[in-house]
Amino acid sequence: MLMKGKKGVVLGIANKKSIAYGIAKSCKEQGADIAITYLNERFQKKLEPIAKELECEDRLYPCDVTNEKEIEDLKESLERDFGKIDFIVHSIAFAPKEGLSGRFVDISKDAFRVAMDISVYSLIEVTQKLKPILSENSSIVTLSYLGGVRYIPNYNLMGVAKAALEMSVKYLAEDLGKDGVRVNAISAGPIKTLAAAGIGDFSFMLKWNAAHSPLKRNVTIEDVGNSGMYLLSDLSKAVTGEIHYVDSGYNIMAMPAVVFDENGKPTIAWNGE
Ligand code: NAP
Repeated sequence: MLMKGKKGVVLGIANKKSIAYGIAKSCKEQGADIAITYLNERFQKKLEPIAKELECEDRLYPCDVTNEKEIEDLKESLERDFGKIDFIVHSIAFAPKEGLSGRFVDISKDAFRVAMDISVYSLIEVTQKLKPILSENSSIVTLSYLGGVRYIPNYNLMGVAKAALEMSVKYLAEDLGKDGVRVNAISAGPIKTLAAAGIGDFSFMLKWNAAHSPLKRNVTIEDVGNSGMYLLSDLSKAVTGEIHYVDSGYNIMAMPAVVFDENGKPTIAWNGE
């Protein structure tokens, strides 16, 4: 039981397809006590069965990260329930649709602000407000994507947000290291979730990644969940400021393997299609 005795909060479960659900489940299986949050009343009902499964029906809290008061209230609730906490999972991102397809040059200032606020500043603000209740051996994990490091079609505005998120991880890690708080990100391969549905041509992205990753498959929320649990557990006690890829190795690829057709012409190795 790698998480026995550890208490923490998971932000970003929308449903059972969410990456945050994968991490919460893995932590629970390893003995952690969890609290989870929902965005608004519409999602509260949906999350009740999940809270029951994770044995945290009494620790299901509202937290829209654009609402400062809700983050402050979350801190009060966690302090009342747990005293100190040992981990935070930040699995939240949002960009207006206009930022996830079309021309990058057309992105509006409003869309930019919203994406940076919800997808980046929320990590800093949640950490800032929950810091007084973080134990001296605690761990924070957030979720990133390769599109924050290199060009990915349609990822556009979220790519810029993930770049800022990854640097926030590094600056937070340095700043909070002296308090015994570790901060890491998982850069996950593409997974079909609610958030991913907003990205243009996402189905093609899934096929491409499966075809061209060293492991020749897409990742699951269980894959990411177990790696997230590792980063929250004491197994990773000396790991901080890291961007840990859980993507079947796709990030190491610079060029897909080339195969030749029956006429000797080079074709891109494709997934059997
Ligand atoms: P998801 O299930 O849709 O989760 C995204 C979560 O963000 C939802 O729970 C959503 O809440 C929440 N959220 C959005 N705006 C919020 C706000 N203002 N306050 C609080 N919560 C808010 O999708 P996911 O794919 O698991 O995404 C989780 C993280 O993984 C994101 O950071 C995403 O960028 C990252 N990631 C995803 C992939 C992928 O391919 N799926 C790959 C790499 C990284 P509601 O649903 O209730 O609105």
